[in-house]
Amino acid sequence: ILKQLGIEKVNSCAFTGKKWLKCGDELLESHSPIDGRLLGTVRKGRAEDYEKVIEQAREAFLFWRQVPAPKRGEVVRQIGEELRRRKKELGALVTVENGKLLAEGEGEVQEVIDVCDMAVGQSRMLYGLTMHSERPGHRMYEQWHPLGPIGVITAFNFPVAVLGWNAMIALVAGDTVIWKPSHKVPLTAIALSQLIGRVLEANGLPEGIFSLLIGDREDIGERMINDPRLPLISATGSVAMGRRIGQVVGRRLGRAILELGGNNGIIVMPSADLELAVRAILFGAVGTAGQRCTSTRRLIVHEQIYDVLVERLTAAYRQVRIGNPLEEGVLMGPLIDIEAVDKMQKALKELKKQGGRVIYGGEVLKGEPYDAGTYVTPCLAEATGAMPLVSEETFAPILYLMKAANLEEAIALHNAVPQGLSSAIFTSDLRESEAFLAHAGSDCGIANVNIGTSGAEIGGAFGGEKNTGGGRESGSDSWKAYMRRQTNTLNWSKELPLAQGISFGD
Ligand code: NAD
Repeated sequence: ILKQLGIEKVNSCAFTGKKWLKCGDELLESHSPIDGRLLGTVRKGRAEDYEKVIEQAREAFLFWRQVPAPKRGEVVRQIGEELRRRKKELGALVTVENGKLLAEGEGEVQEVIDVCDMAVGQSRMLYGLTMHSERPGHRMYEQWHPLGPIGVITAFNFPVAVLGWNAMIALVAGDTVIWKPSHKVPLTAIALSQLIGRVLEANGLPEGIFSLLIGDREDIGERMINDPRLPLISATGSVAMGRRIGQVVGRRLGRAILELGGNNGIIVMPSADLELAVRAILFGAVGTAGQRCTSTRRLIVHEQIYDVLVERLTAAYRQVRIGNPLEEGVLMGPLIDIEAVDKMQKALKELKKQGGRVIYGGEVLKGEPYDAGTYVTPCLAEATGAMPLVSEETFAPILYLMKAANLEEAIALHNAVPQGLSSAIFTSDLRESEAFLAHAGSDCGIANVNIGTSGAEIGGAFGGEKNTGGGRESGSDSWKAYMRRQTNTLNWSKELPLAQGISFGD
């Protein structure tokens, strides 16, 4: 695949946009979750590689911020074009290294292409406001300036899309970007970085506008979050990681965009179109093997329709073909690694201990073609809101089903978890859908009606409340987080009136 992408052989994890640094002798292995095969080894970046990359990014920022925003947009447009040409191959690489379906791998690349298109338009719309000054002969306005070199830390489960949400917006904003992807998907990161680097080079741009760094936590990750030269860290990952990063970046009074774990619920009311609901739940809970931050993890069902929905869902779950995600017709591929399978099994043991019950699935699959030990059957489980397990995000295809007697109880159950990313209601009753979207309804960053929790569009601001971290990325006015706001007051009169009518030494 790398050959098809025209990617030159690379054996290091530190890239300045033009050059691959030599790095040390310590190797990072990439294994495919599909069959456990070793895909490749790369040298890990060290502390000295980190220094080189950051200094280059700092220098490049001084240049890049002077390039007019629409011209920066033109470069991002070309990155989108390059990805259009390489979508199939890069998508396949995502599948091989991460294990998601081919359509999902390509879908990730498409998402970056879409973000590039949006960012091109945004590059001409980095709008500030004008305000009326209280002082005569004065003009007041605000403008948005580039922020600096910024750090982007991403999770394994979206090895391409999340970089796009951040980097393409940051690049049109005039920032330079240092990317630290998950060590579980280094080859995808290397390929994507080289494609981006190629466009930057073709435009005669200096190195350091976009860089890549992968290495040990102490050498790279911790160094990044502690580094005052990086005014913003955008981090996507677990709540535990976000807690650490939020604290460290906060301590140095830096800015952080935190996109953390979800525990997404769907409420199903008696008036719901069950055909739609079952399809949305299946995609949300089983799609990407339950490894999306927006995966559906909790189903809160009105007691009147609980039995019929369980029956229909069980029938749908039985038909899910599990196997090699490169094969057509397969709906669920492997989990990322054996550790993820173990965590799922642990959660199911805990479920029984806490008084829950498995309705369907949850087994680890064995024998050909499941020898890698990374395949499971998706699980439907009966639970209650009182079980501590239901408040946790287990990054696997487990769906907890709970009953509610009415909408009020359903919303209370829905909001009773620490995370607040995505949510949905299935209903044909206008009053119920409005109540769910109103201020006393869902407490999540994303709230949907008659569509599921997963599969957000890039045009909206993406992110969640509570333990999900509060960050917003991608569409709407998310670009503002990558810039600094400046308020300007300009006096064109011959007087010097002070604000609030204060007189001082007149
Ligand atoms: P993870 O928390 O293990 O790692 C995420 C990234 O953070 C990795 O690159 C990791 O190396 C880095 N990291 C961890 N500790 C760090 C530290 N101290 N300093 C610097 N970097 C550090 O998460 P994962 O297993 O890769 O991904 C799954 C998690 O990500 C789930 O919880 C999922 O919900 C979440 N996620 C959230 C979103 C969102 O937009 N809200 C999107 C995708 C994934």
